[in-house]
Amino acid sequence: MTITSPRVLSVIPPMTQLNTPYPATAYLTGFLRSRGVDAVQEDLALQLVLRLFSSDGLRAILKHIESSPKSSSPAAPPAPSESVAFFCEQFSQYAATADRVIRFLQGRDSTLAHRINSRMFLPEGPRFHVLDNHISEDDDDDGTDPLGWAFGALGIQDRARHFATLYLSDLADVLREAVDARFEFVRYAESLAASQPTFDPLAKSLAAAPNLVDNTLRDLTLAAIDRHQPQIVLVTVPFPGCVYAAFRIAQAIKAAHPSMLLLLGGGFVNTELRELSDVRVFDYFDYVTLDDGERPLLALLEHLRGDRSREQLVRTFLRTDTDAGQAVAYMNHAEPDIPFAEVGTPTWDGLPIDDYLSTLDMLNPMHRLWSDGRWNKLTVAHGCYWKKCSFCDVSLDYIGRYDGVAAKTLVDRIEAIVTETGQTGFHLVDEAAPPKALKAMAEELLQRNITISWWGNIRFEKSFTAELCELLAASGCIAISGGLEVASDRLLKLMKKGVSVAQVARVTKAFSNAGILVHAYLMYGFPTQTVQDTVDALEYVRQLFEEDCIQSGFFHRFACTVHSPVGKNPQEYGIELVPLPPVSFAQNDVDFIDPTGVDHDMLGTALNKGLYNFMHGVGMEEDIRSWFTKKAPRSTVSRDFILKALEAN
Ligand code: SF4
Repeated sequence: MTITSPRVLSVIPPMTQLNTPYPATAYLTGFLRSRGVDAVQEDLALQLVLRLFSSDGLRAILKHIESSPKSSSPAAPPAPSESVAFFCEQFSQYAATADRVIRFLQGRDSTLAHRINSRMFLPEGPRFHVLDNHISEDDDDDGTDPLGWAFGALGIQDRARHFATLYLSDLADVLREAVDARFEFVRYAESLAASQPTFDPLAKSLAAAPNLVDNTLRDLTLAAIDRHQPQIVLVTVPFPGCVYAAFRIAQAIKAAHPSMLLLLGGGFVNTELRELSDVRVFDYFDYVTLDDGERPLLALLEHLRGDRSREQLVRTFLRTDTDAGQAVAYMNHAEPDIPFAEVGTPTWDGLPIDDYLSTLDMLNPMHRLWSDGRWNKLTVAHGCYWKKCSFCDVSLDYIGRYDGVAAKTLVDRIEAIVTETGQTGFHLVDEAAPPKALKAMAEELLQRNITISWWGNIRFEKSFTAELCELLAASGCIAISGGLEVASDRLLKLMKKGVSVAQVARVTKAFSNAGILVHAYLMYGFPTQTVQDTVDALEYVRQLFEEDCIQSGFFHRFACTVHSPVGKNPQEYGIELVPLPPVSFAQNDVDFIDPTGVDHDMLGTALNKGLYNFMHGVGMEEDIRSWFTKKAPRSTVSRDFILKALEAN
């Protein structure tokens, strides 16, 4: 089949995020248009949520509940849960308020905040219990009220948005408990894909009778196809939590339009499907491509025009017939990637940028930025300039291939995006934006007198001086995040982070002094991490809050991936990997045995409890051991370590 000038539709499958479009389709659409290709895009994740949580959608959910034999759905519990019972009882109130709440969260009806704040307008299901308790269970017994604290600072609109978010969360619980146990707002059926060595669980779910969510997604998919009439559909899956829906989308398209070509790519594919060999995947998708999509797509378009052989495709899996039957072939004609300077400007054209929902569920100030507000997502450079951290996927292209761009080009892109979207907020989505490039960008923004606000990830390296932080703030930087990881100089060295705790203190303080919010990524459970390391790490973190170096943080449990230096050379880190089963589908996380035998689960609870309180300025004076439920050793860190590190600056 020869296709000379196809229309290419890129879609975002459910679920990614609700406040702003995931950027992959914007990048691909911008790139394809810059090459003269007729390219369009759709966000099916947003559409699915808007349809399910409309008043009509709620009626469909009620109908489903009322018509379901109690034991027919393996996904549903045998008796109605508290959420489901409350929903049925209060249905008329839900149906009367749903569309209004959505419009409020879209920023289209701000005066509704007063009605919402009256607490007489919205039905208040189990998610609202947290307000009755006032103090979360993670809080200390000192009478501190984190919601009161936050609302005092946040005001009428934020209070109403928090209530509206609880309302939506109640509805999501109803959907999960009565219709589809796999549903969540930011991930959907994640366990079917994440590190799943075989396609079996996904195949089984895709063969099951479609439920209300599946049918809604199918209708939206086919409507999008009717609107655009594409010849090629690109489905981009950034996370495991959108893989199931991606396959349901493909299933719907293949059933209605068997000759339409489907292509799968995105972050999940790039990290997890590198060993793909299951031919069943190609019942849904014709091609699966790895790493940046631009070059493989150009090669595929040439192939479809008849200008390039199948063997000259780039980083592309496909199904072939062999003497032994069908097999998966990987075509990887060696060709350089499109330089980052030539990938074009992302475009949001076609996405309903006014329809996204600004929710407010987390009171953590940095998490607010992730879920609140519509941010243009942009990358300063391709890959990471440091690419050494031993827990990171440095062997993969998205980290390991660094490729920068001139500040002028970057700011041209910023200007074009502001003109197109009318929005001046930017989330720089680099894994670690390089200081030199940020400095050049800031100077260019100031020189052109362009007003934006921006935030993003960096590495807390010493080239972020006080002067540079002030320059970044003047250019619109409002927040930055970076990895302090395990706050321990021994472990920072082992993980090749290239920073020390004292240096992180000085850099974060410089950002804070410039009025920039600082969020620290923290980690626990790294190979060889002892109880003493963990106690000391929490003490460092306490002091960083005390000295106002950081205002926000989050502890992640270390996960070993097959693409990281730890996963590739476990013996260098004193651990042994648990052998993986044969892989024909996804592969990423790998279990390991750490001979230290530390109970990281117990320690993780203490770390998060301590951190949560520090973020609210609570418990700063207490001995760090008080956060641990089991006997913990005294910290070996002096109580003024960070203060001294700052004074030594
Ligand atoms: S963890 Fe961050 S700084 Fe380290 S290699 Fe990965 S992207 Fe770069």
